Amino acid sequence: MDAISYQRATDVNSAIAAAQRPGAMFIGGGTNLLDLMKGGLTHPVTLVDITRIEALDKVETLPNGGLRIGALVRNSDAANHTLVRTRYPLLSQALLAGASPQLRNMATVGGNLMQRTRCPYFYDTAFTQCNKRAPGSGCAAIGGFNRMHAILGASAQCVAVNPSDMSVALAALDATVQVSGPRGARTIAFSAFHRLPGDRPDLDTTLQSGELITSVDLPPPIFSEHAHYLKVRDRASYAFALVSVASALQLDGHRVRTAHIALGGVAHRPWRASVAEQHLTGRTLSAAALREAAAAELAQAKPLDGNRFKVGLAQRAIVRATLLAAGGTGDFT
Ligand SMILES: Cc1cc2nc3c(=O)[nH]c(=O)nc-3n(C[C@H](O)[C@H](O)[C@H](O)COP(=O)(O)OP(=O)(O)OC[C@H]3O[C@@H](n4cnc5c(N)ncnc54)[C@H](O)[C@@H]3O)c2cc1C
Repeated sequence: MDAISYQRATDVNSAIAAAQRPGAMFIGGGTNLLDLMKGGLTHPVTLVDITRIEALDKVETLPNGGLRIGALVRNSDAANHTLVRTRYPLLSQALLAGASPQLRNMATVGGNLMQRTRCPYFYDTAFTQCNKRAPGSGCAAIGGFNRMHAILGASAQCVAVNPSDMSVALAALDATVQVSGPRGARTIAFSAFHRLPGDRPDLDTTLQSGELITSVDLPPPIFSEHAHYLKVRDRASYAFALVSVASALQLDGHRVRTAHIALGGVAHRPWRASVAEQHLTGRTLSAAALREAAAAELAQAKPLDGNRFKVGLAQRAIVRATLLAAGGTGDFT
């Protein structure tokens, strides 16, 4: 058993100071970190409990009309907040598609962004090959059971996928991640927050050691009327996505003025479907146009032996999610 010291931070500065100690880790809801510790995958020396930092437990409007969601806002509270439901229904839908009510009551926004992959070879230390867990050891998933794994942006080192539903919506909404660290505060564009694996699959994000996520900021809402989060999974609830799609549109009649589409369950980070978006922009929306756009996006897919089905599934999910987005958020808000 590891000896772990526990420190409760009451403000951002004391949390950051405590996190500079070797082996220190922040703990939010603990719904992922405690599992990682129990599985022997993570060995913090000090746990810095950030859940009492009141300043980070707020949802507030920004001067530009956007919304700031504090890093400690629980997933349930974020999903059910009136401003999130009415202005960013895509985010609310994605949050409610994740985990279970009990987990969402504990999980924080910051922790959700930082949750680690659900690749079984990463979690099971009986498998010695996992470049994410033990850099340089290999990847058992590439020649193994890889039904749940990546079809886009993977590398010869790692084919794991990011499991967060919330992050797929945030990618489509062009959110930013606000962070503070020993060298001050900075803003990270959502597209630059999660990484592709490349030759460093042990690094999930571009967050630096000792940096604290303080909030997720959303730009002014332009997709409140036409947005849909579709999650395709093996069970109707309490299951991670095989493929998910966050689709958000601005329409002029039937013509697409703006399309923002992000995919989950297909890559090491939420995958912004920019090829599909370009195909749709300026076009009249139809099932045929959507099928063409989705096929163009998935043309770059490199499936593994066990997940070829995801290529067609992702295409059909883009079509369905975007048609549902076009139909309007209606009663959801
Ligand atoms: C059975 C089960 C099913 C699940 N199903 C889903 C699902 O379908 N979809 C989905 O999206 N998720 C799912 N989850 C994952 C769940 O959403 C995450 O565990 C949760 O969001 C993590 O948040 P947390 O606050 O508990 O993080 P913690 O476990 O406290 O922390 C996770 C990581 O984030 C770091 N961290 C936390 N807060 C900060 C911060 N402010 N700044 C910097 N680093 C920070 C911690 O150091 C740690 O490394 C599931 C989890 C379980 C256990």
